[in-house]
Amino acid sequence: MATTDDSFNGLTEYCDDCELETLHEISVQIRTESVKEENAQFSREPYRVKECQRCGNRSSQRMNNA
Ligand SMILES: [Zn+2]
Repeated sequence: MATTDDSFNGLTEYCDDCELETLHEISVQIRTESVKEENAQFSREPYRVKECQRCGNRSSQRMNNA
């Protein structure tokens, strides 16, 4: 995180829509999920969100696969 020239949080990853490797913007999102409907207990799960800079397709993936 010491680099100053990398202002864009981009990463080249495979896009399912483009069917090729494109530049993606990567971000992490904390989503609150209800564990059970009965008790109001929520767990906060970090999601890794990537957005294709070519077609705009967004996909998220839960980081904790517990
Ligand atoms: Zn794409």
